[in-house]
This record gives sequence, structure tokens and C-alpha cells, in this order.
Amino acid sequence: MKINILTLFPEMYKGFLGESIIKRGIEKELLEVNLIDIRDFAFDKHKMVDDTPFGGGGGMLLKPEPLFRALRSIEKRGLTIYTSPQGETLNQDIVKKLAKEAEITIIAGHYEGIDERVIEEFVDMEISIGDYVLTGGELPSMVMIDSISRMIPNVLGNEDSFINDSFYNGLLDCPHYTRPAEFEGKKVPEVLLSGHHKNIEIWRKKESLKRTYLRRPDLFESKKLEKQEEKIFNEMLKELKNEK
Ligand code: SAM
Repeated sequence: MKINILTLFPEMYKGFLGESIIKRGIEKELLEVNLIDIRDFAFDKHKMVDDTPFGGGGGMLLKPEPLFRALRSIEKRGLTIYTSPQGETLNQDIVKKLAKEAEITIIAGHYEGIDERVIEEFVDMEISIGDYVLTGGELPSMVMIDSISRMIPNVLGNEDSFINDSFYNGLLDCPHYTRPAEFEGKKVPEVLLSGHHKNIEIWRKKESLKRTYLRRPDLFESKKLEKQEEKIFNEMLKELKNEK
């Protein structure tokens, strides 16, 4: 998959793209990130990319011309996204869909944002990473690259690692433990040491349902439980009642 990023600050991506799973994804040629410096497409000798907004008010806006030129310089933009606090909030379903695209382009805004005509002409989708305002779209675009790349087959190496993660199947993940089996008097749940795969699977499902029920009951609005899940869910509810 290829991701084009339009930014005023390409240097901000260096550490992020040069470490860990993203770095390996790029090395394995499963992911390509094309950083485009908006300033390279400025017209004048001062490389001006921003200007004051018509109608007054504080702050600066990214001018349309450099962005139009930068976007037109990309051969195949694919789905074009503008990072914006006014966009659809990013979630795992959107991430899964984006990971199926062969190429996407992300515009990282700055200052007070970008001239609206850029959005009208090029943008297919506006994406927000939450109801708060950041200084620029660089971090949101990194959040997108990170969440999308781990959905690309073979980037994580082990498919299971995302299948069981929170949100992938509409539930939160279960708790996890590693060695030692006992630490400062705290013991790992017995079932996980039993080697009984079926029981471990049921325990994990029950914990996952319990966490979702207690922490994010809203997720059940869009999650249809399978028969086996429903049985475990009811058992979990009974156990919770008995704990009270
Ligand atoms: N004036 C804009 C508004 O109120 O909608 C906010 C501009 S913000 C200071 C500058 C840039 O940061 C935006 O153009 C956008 O690209 C990015 N940005 C800020 N918060 C964001 C968020 N929650 N999600 C995605 N992008 C965000």
C-alpha cells in the first residue's frame, strides 16, 4: 500500500517511520510512505504557503495554490483524506476499509487549517482523531499510518495479533499475562496455566465481554453476538450479579 502525505513538516515523520513495525513494513515493501513537502510547491521565492483569512480574524491559513500544485503532482492520489477535527472520527472499521486501498493521500493541515477550495476540489473524506484540536495534522496522519499498516497482511507477522485486539470484532480485548506466574503475591488466573485450549478460549471471550460490558457498553449497540458468545455473555452477567 502507498500513502502520500502532504505536510509542512516532513522531518516530523522520520523517527516514526524509522522504528519498529512501521519500519519493517516499509523494508518488506508492504508499505510505502511518500512524504511531500507542501513548501516545495510554493510559487514565490519566499516559499510562502500561508496567508491571512479573508474577513479577518486571527491565525493563518494554508493557501490553495501550493496545495493544488502538490496534489496534482501525485500520479495516483487514490482516496484523498484531509485530517480535520471536523471530520468523521477515526475508528477500527474505517481503518479496516482504508487498509484495503492500494493508495491513499493524506493532507496534514496547519495553522487555522486549509483554504476550503482545496477540500471542495480534492478531498473525498475528512477524518478526525478525536474531539480536541491539535496544532497540525501530522500526528493524526501518523495515527492513521500506524493503525492502517498493522491491518496490511504480513506487516505484523502474526495475523492473530490484530484479530484479537480491541475493536476488531467489536469488543475490547481480554487481560493478558506473561511470566512469572506469580509476582509480588499476584497470581495469573489458573486457567491460563492449564494448557486447556478450549477453556482458555472461553475464559478470554468471557473477560473480553465483561470488559466491554463494564467499560464500553455502547459497543454492544453495533455488535451482534453469536450463539456461543451469547451463552458466555449470560454466564458472565450471572457471575457479575453473584459478585455483588
Ligand atoms: N480551525 C480548525 C477548526 O477549528 O476546525 C482547526 C485547525 S487546527 C489548529 C490545524 C490543523 O490540525 C487542522 O487543519 C488539521 O489538519 C489538524 N487537526 C487538529 N486537530 C485535529 C483532529 N482532532 N483530528 C485531525 N486533525 C486535526
